[in-house]
Amino acid sequence: MLDSAAEAWLRTSARVGNPSSLHGSGRAARRIVEESRESIADDLGVRPSAVIFTAGGTEADNLAIKGLAWAAPQRPRILCSAIEHHAVLDPVVWLAEQGRPVDWIPVDAVGRVSVDDIRARLSDDVALCTVMWANNEVGTIQPIAEIAAACADAGVPFHTDAVQALGHVPVDAGMRGITSLALSGHKIGAPVGVGILVLDRDARVVPVLHGGGQERDVRSGTVDAASAAAMAVAVRHAVTEQQDHAERMTRLRDALAAGILERVPQAVLNGSPDAALPGHVHASFPGCEGDALLMLLDAAGVECSTGSACTSGVPEPSHVLLAMGVDPARARGSLRFSLGRTSTEDDVDRILEVLPPAVERASRAGSPSFRTVS
Ligand code: PLP
Repeated sequence: MLDSAAEAWLRTSARVGNPSSLHGSGRAARRIVEESRESIADDLGVRPSAVIFTAGGTEADNLAIKGLAWAAPQRPRILCSAIEHHAVLDPVVWLAEQGRPVDWIPVDAVGRVSVDDIRARLSDDVALCTVMWANNEVGTIQPIAEIAAACADAGVPFHTDAVQALGHVPVDAGMRGITSLALSGHKIGAPVGVGILVLDRDARVVPVLHGGGQERDVRSGTVDAASAAAMAVAVRHAVTEQQDHAERMTRLRDALAAGILERVPQAVLNGSPDAALPGHVHASFPGCEGDALLMLLDAAGVECSTGSACTSGVPEPSHVLLAMGVDPARARGSLRFSLGRTSTEDDVDRILEVLPPAVERASRAGSPSFRTVS
């Protein structure tokens, strides 16, 4: 967590009460929630009323996907990219099980959707279209402005999961055509357990939670003032530091990617070479089991993940890589390295030092073609 966000959290939680209460400490809490909302709205380019506090990115995605779909029963279809995080994918699958027809929007070999393809699918029987801003596994960035504009032209609500994008690329949540957008606190240095749903004031959603009617009746439940305050600090930091952060991460990412290809010539980089998150390297190591490689690297002090960190432990190959046309065996031998705020050139050197021997050990017994250069 960011020190400044932790301080805001502590300061607030020690001082204030329930923001839904009318007494003094309740009013103080309400003031903090509203100031936090205004600050976040300012940073994201939306009106304060568009900012809805949630308990994380998963909740924000679920409120939007289910809420928009339920609000439009007369428009049964849902358009969803094939590479979404499970926080979007699973509610859409669940809605499909309830009988909603779903168009799974395909991606190309680097994980990009085609705007023309989406445009051709938009019609007045579509309840919503959802495409993530940037992918959590391979880091591919989608043409969000064009997709949002196409949806606006067709009158179709558009949701985007921007959990991985904020702080890494410029995020204008107020751009034309964005109906809703999900953010997660712990990805930007706020505490785990806070998120934001940005929801256009004209959007019609049916609430998932019923109760006290807080947050425009979209998300009933007492708002956590301390987390809201910490989130405001983290969003401000993410937005003001974004450019410097991206430049530094891009340098580290490029050094790591080039080093991997040099030291492990059979490695294959996944994702888009020109529309990728800074700080994100995703590579396949043919002949290796990703989980075995991950454990070897972990023992050497390098933390990475196979597929999405949120679904590690699930043995199936990543749905993202399969959607990109990667064959299942190669998909299983893939790792994601995420560089962040605290990463340095020394960290990149350390990864490149321990990776070749780890790959050597993890490569399947009898794999004849595998070699590394250490
Ligand atoms: N969406 C994306 C793209 C993510 O990467 C994650 C978490 O990693 C989530 C949603 C879920 O966010 P949270 O952990 O705050 O529920």
